[in-house]
Amino acid sequence: MRKLQAKSALLPEGWAKDVSLEIDADGRLVSVASECVLDTATETFETLLPAPSNLHSHAFQRALVGLTEVRGPSDDDFWSWRERMYAFLPRLTPDDVETIAAQLFVELAESGFSAIAEFHYLHHQADGVVYDDLAEMAGRISAAAQQTGFGLTLLPVAYARSGFGGAPPHQGQIRFSNSAENFLKLWDASRKHLHREDDKLGLAPHSLRAVTPGDLAIILGAQHDGPTHIHAAEQVKEVEDCIAWSGQRPVEWLLNHHDINEKWCFIHATQMAAEETTALARTGAVAGLCPTTEADLGDGIFNGRQWHAEGGHWGIGTDSHIGTDIAVELRQLEWSQRLTHKQRTVLAHPMQSNARSLYEGALAGGAQALGRISGQIAPGYWADMVALDKNHPVLVGKTEDSLLDSWIFAGSRACVSNVWSAGRHIVEGGKHIERGNIAQRYARVMKKLLA
Ligand code: ZN
Repeated sequence: MRKLQAKSALLPEGWAKDVSLEIDADGRLVSVASECVLDTATETFETLLPAPSNLHSHAFQRALVGLTEVRGPSDDDFWSWRERMYAFLPRLTPDDVETIAAQLFVELAESGFSAIAEFHYLHHQADGVVYDDLAEMAGRISAAAQQTGFGLTLLPVAYARSGFGGAPPHQGQIRFSNSAENFLKLWDASRKHLHREDDKLGLAPHSLRAVTPGDLAIILGAQHDGPTHIHAAEQVKEVEDCIAWSGQRPVEWLLNHHDINEKWCFIHATQMAAEETTALARTGAVAGLCPTTEADLGDGIFNGRQWHAEGGHWGIGTDSHIGTDIAVELRQLEWSQRLTHKQRTVLAHPMQSNARSLYEGALAGGAQALGRISGQIAPGYWADMVALDKNHPVLVGKTEDSLLDSWIFAGSRACVSNVWSAGRHIVEGGKHIERGNIAQRYARVMKKLLA
């Protein structure tokens, strides 16, 4: 049993002083007590918070940042970005993917995240041939999570078609396409790569454009207790194509054809009509918002105010990893709403600090979307926690909600001092414990990829 103390901590009932925690050998919190007489022999942190889970990632895309910003011959958008991403894919080996993922997990941990849902679709060799181990690449993602101590919910992705109506995959998609039946074999093979007690396996049909209704029925037949994630309604063209195919919008189609519930996470859900927003919020499903990626790709702005008013669940992902900082993601989410509505504190609950509302929303939605028992400093939960550096200029002199507002709206990863993932103490003094080794490996990979 390990003991740890905090002068101030955010507990489910609110801010508490002089908190003492016990963590068992598996990384679960077993006791949490406040108003304690702090013991000088035990390590004591100034401010402790639950650490959020990152609910959407394509880890390899971290290596692509900064390489897609030159304007093409005509207007650039998500689809022209996607062509550049596809052109990058053939260069990536399993070793490269493992190293890029490890570097990403270091950076995300240093910003305060403790776990990730990897929406993993890069399955095959560059020529589309399967690896001897169908789940070789899934194993590399898991290896990166183990090297960095980062929590993982692995979501192998089913991708079978290149568009609505069952068009076959094209050349750029050969590294990730499978028939529904072959996908289930790969999904099953992924399970053996998950070794830690807090690792979780879920399922991810890529999007309605990438699977037919028949594929989707087969894929959803997989037996598991994890979450199901799907990209939905990210782009206007995707919605238009879905209407041309089915007469319905993507979220509308999913609500009409499947039992959508709190096990589901709809990634982006940017282009929903008002009726879809209300109907989806009421299912208890999570909206997987990726604010900096959605801004970077010009996706549009999520209907946050209506979703919030309906009590909809939501969480934060970093998707393409153009951003890797929880504070920046939450700020971007709120600022997009402010610009849209010409108001302030749009996503705050009445009479509550904006960052407190945002942070607690992201904690709950992230945990739900990962199927991870986290998001609270409470007995029985994984010890996923973050400590802040109260000496950082943005935080100095601040306490409780004003500290949180300062971190989220004016701070960054530089405010984070320590992070634990299921009790694994992975960030100390603002630096990930494997930062140096992994940065060296990453530098070699990047030089090779860009040569
Ligand atoms: Zn995505």
